[in-house]
Amino acid sequence: MLYVLFIFYYLMQEKLVGSIIFYMTAGRLDSNTIEAKWQERWLKELSYSPDLEKAKKPFYNLMMFPYPSAEGLHVGNMYAFTGADIYGRFMRMQGHDVFEPIGLDGFGIHSENYAIKIGEHPAKLAKKTQERFYKQLHATGNSFDWGKTLETYDPEYYKWTQWIFVKMFKAGLAYRAKAPVNWCPSCKTVLADEQVIAGKCERCGSEVQTKQLEQWFFRLATGKRPDGNLYAESLLANIEKIDWSQKVKIAQRNWIGKSEGMMIKFEAGDSEIEVFTTRPDTINGATFLVLSPDSEWVEKVTSKENKRKVSEYIKKYQTSGSDEIDKEKTGVFTGSYAINPLTGKEIPIWISDYVLAGYGTGAIMAVPAHDERDREFAEKFEIEIVKKEPDKSLWQEIEAKGWGNRHTNYHLRDWLISRQRYWGPPIPMIYCEDCASKGKGEQKDMPGWYSVSEEDLPVELPYVEDYRPRGTGVSPLATEPKFYEVKCPSCGEKARRETDVSDTFLDSAWYYLRYPSVGVKNTAWDPEISKKWLPVDMYIGGAEHSVLHLLYSRFLAMVFRDFGLIDFEEPFTRFYAHGLLIKEGAKMSKSKGNIVVPDEYIKKFGADTLRAYLMFLGPFDAGGDFRDTGIEGMRRFIDRVWNLYAEHRNTVLTEEKDSREVLVKMHQTIKKVSEDLENLKYNTTISALMEFVNLLRDKSEAGGKKAKGNIRCAEWDEALRTLVLLFAPFAPHMTEEIWVEVLGEEFSIHNQPWPSYNSEFLKVEQVEIIIQVDGKLRATLTIGKQDSTNQPKVEDQARAEAKIKSWIEGKKVKNTVFVSGKLINFVTE
Ligand SMILES: [Zn+2]
Ligand SMILES: [Zn+2]
Repeated sequence: MLYVLFIFYYLMQEKLVGSIIFYMTAGRLDSNTIEAKWQERWLKELSYSPDLEKAKKPFYNLMMFPYPSAEGLHVGNMYAFTGADIYGRFMRMQGHDVFEPIGLDGFGIHSENYAIKIGEHPAKLAKKTQERFYKQLHATGNSFDWGKTLETYDPEYYKWTQWIFVKMFKAGLAYRAKAPVNWCPSCKTVLADEQVIAGKCERCGSEVQTKQLEQWFFRLATGKRPDGNLYAESLLANIEKIDWSQKVKIAQRNWIGKSEGMMIKFEAGDSEIEVFTTRPDTINGATFLVLSPDSEWVEKVTSKENKRKVSEYIKKYQTSGSDEIDKEKTGVFTGSYAINPLTGKEIPIWISDYVLAGYGTGAIMAVPAHDERDREFAEKFEIEIVKKEPDKSLWQEIEAKGWGNRHTNYHLRDWLISRQRYWGPPIPMIYCEDCASKGKGEQKDMPGWYSVSEEDLPVELPYVEDYRPRGTGVSPLATEPKFYEVKCPSCGEKARRETDVSDTFLDSAWYYLRYPSVGVKNTAWDPEISKKWLPVDMYIGGAEHSVLHLLYSRFLAMVFRDFGLIDFEEPFTRFYAHGLLIKEGAKMSKSKGNIVVPDEYIKKFGADTLRAYLMFLGPFDAGGDFRDTGIEGMRRFIDRVWNLYAEHRNTVLTEEKDSREVLVKMHQTIKKVSEDLENLKYNTTISALMEFVNLLRDKSEAGGKKAKGNIRCAEWDEALRTLVLLFAPFAPHMTEEIWVEVLGEEFSIHNQPWPSYNSEFLKVEQVEIIIQVDGKLRATLTIGKQDSTNQPKVEDQARAEAKIKSWIEGKKVKNTVFVSGKLINFVTE
C-alpha cells in the first residue's frame, strides 16, 4: 500500500515537474532544448530499433543511399529523408514494426574526386565525412535505426561486395573482354553507358571519349536465366508488376530498349556485313551502309586509297564527344561497296559516329527516303535517295531467300564493372600467365583467371599514398607490388592480382540486403531475417536514378533469386520518386554557392519547423522552392500549435454548436490527413492541419472559456489529442513534448495508434435552396450545406434541374440573384 502511494506521489511530482517546464516555455517553444532531449531519449530507449527477429508486422522503409562528400548533409538529402521518414512514422502509428536504416555510400569516383580536389586522402576524408554526416542526420529527428548503419568502404561490407563478384564469375555472369568503352579523360577511368549523360561524364561533366580496352563486365544484357530466358527479358516483363511511378517505368523500358527486326547480310567484297534493322520492309530503298567508327568491319573494308582519311576521322572521333544528338552529321567514305541483296545494286559503305557501336551490330543499312538521320547524311554527302513504298512482304522474302533472319535487339548492354581508380573494392580476381599459356583457368573461356576464395575475402584496399588516377588505363594499385604480387591459386606459380576496383554502382546495388543483417558474420545476409523483411516495402529516392541504380539493383536481385540466395525477384515493391528542391528560383549548385546546409536552419528554427517547411513547399513528387521567408512562416505555425496547448489547453466549449463544429472538423481532418499521407501528399496534409488549428484557435477565443478547477471539456480534449497525433510524423519532437509533458500521456507518441474517423460526423448536412425564375418559385434544390454558400455550384446545379431548364430555355438570363444558403433567382429578358 505504501508502495502504491509512493508511486502515486512520484507520478504527481513528475507531472508537476512537467508542468513547470511547460509554463517556462509557454509562448515560444524552445526547439533546440526539447529536440536534443527527445533525440537522446529515443536513442536510449531504442525507440526506432525494432526487434528484427520478433517483429510481427515488418515494414521496411528505405531511402536511397546517400553519397555525401565532406560538406555533409545537403538540404536536398534532408528533403528526401524527411519525406521518407514521415511515411515511416505514419506506418509505425498504423501498427507496423518499421525498420528505417541509414548508411553511407562512401566509395567511388564522387568521393574520390572530392578528395583529390581538396588534397586529402579519401580514407581520412571518409572518416570525417561519416562523423559529420551522422551527427547532422541525428539532428533532423528521423526515426533511423542507429544500430544498423553501414558504410560501403568498411571491409566488413565490401567483403560481401567482392563475394558477389566471385559468385557472378563462377556462374559465368562476369567476364573480361576487350570492347569499345566510354573513357572520361578527366576522371581517367572508364564509365558505364548509364554514366554518360548526353556525351558527358555523369560525375564531372567532361566530354567522354571512346577507347578500346579490356574490362570486366556483368552480363546484364547477355546473361541467361536458368530457364534460358535473358535477364533483359525478365527485367522488361516485371516492370508491369511493380508499383512504381509511370515515368520511372518508362525510363526503364526505354533503357532496355527492346526492338523486333531482322539481321540482314550484305556482301562486301571478301567480307559480309551484317546489319540489324527494324524496317526490313524498306530494304528496297537502302542506298548505302554506315559503320560505327568502332566497328570491326572498318579495317576490313577500307580501301588502300581511303586509309589515311578514315584513320584521321576515327582519331578525331575518339578524342571528342560522340553522343550529341543534334550536331551536324560527319562521316567518311571507306572506298568500298556492298551489294543490296534485293536490288542487286552496289551501294557505298560509309563510316559515321551517328551509328553507335552498341546498337545492333554497329552497322546499319541506310534508307534516306524513310529515315531522317539517313536523309540528312545522304544530302550532306550527296548519296542517292531512292523513294520506294515500304513493302511488308519483304520480311518474308528476305527470310525465304536466306538474306537474313528475324532478330530481337536490345539497347541494353552488359554492365561495365571495372574502374581504373583507387577508391573502391579491389576486384577479387587473380591472373596467372603460366596457367593462361596452358589454357587452364577457373572458367573454360577465360584462361589464366581465378577468383579469390571466399575465406580470403575481403581483398583489403591497401593504403596508397598517391591514390590519384594515372590515366594509363591501370589503377594506382598497379604501382603496389605488395598488393598485386600473389601466388596462383591453381599452380602456385607467380601470379598477379587484378588491380582495378569495382564500380560504385555495385556497392549500392545490394546494400538494402545488408541493412537488416548488419552485424551478422559469415554471411552477406541472414536468410531468415531477409525472408521476414524483404523485399523493401517502400523505397524513396530521386528520379535521376530511374535507370542506373534501380536497374542494377533489379538485375542483381533476379540473379540472387536464381542462385537461391533470396526468395523474391523484385527488390522494391513500391518506389516513389520525390521532386527536386531549388533555392529562390535557382538550381542549387556548389558553383553558385547557394547550397543550403540544414544545420543553421535547424539551429535557428528547429528541426520540426524545417521538416514541416520542406514538406509544405509543394507536392512531394514535384519538389519546391526553398525561401528563407517561407520558413519563418512555418515557424509561426509551429508556435501557434504549441500555443494551443500552452495557453488554451483548458478551454471549455460552452455552446453545443461549437462542440459539434470542432468534432466535424476533427473527423474531416483525420480522414483527409490519413488519405493524403498514404499517397505522400504532404503539402495538402499540412494545409488540412492548418485549417484545423485555425478553427481550434477561433473556438478557444470566441466559443470557449477557460475552465476553472477540474472541469474539462471532452470534445476539446479529444480535438487536442487528435491534432497532436496527426501532426506527430511532421514535428516528432514538439509533439512528443506535448504528448508526454503537457498532456501527461505515456511515452512515446510515435507508438500510439493512428486516430480513426467516425463517418457519422462526415455526413454532409443537406439544405434546401429555393430556385426562382423571374421571382416565381419554380423548384427547390437539395445541396450539401458547405456547397450551399457557393454561388457557381448552386447556379450550375439549379440550371441543370429539368424544371428550371424548361423555364429558361430559349431565354437569356440577364441577371442572377443569389441569397447565400437560401435562394437563387434567374432574371430573364
Ligand atoms: Zn569524369
Ligand atoms: Zn597458375
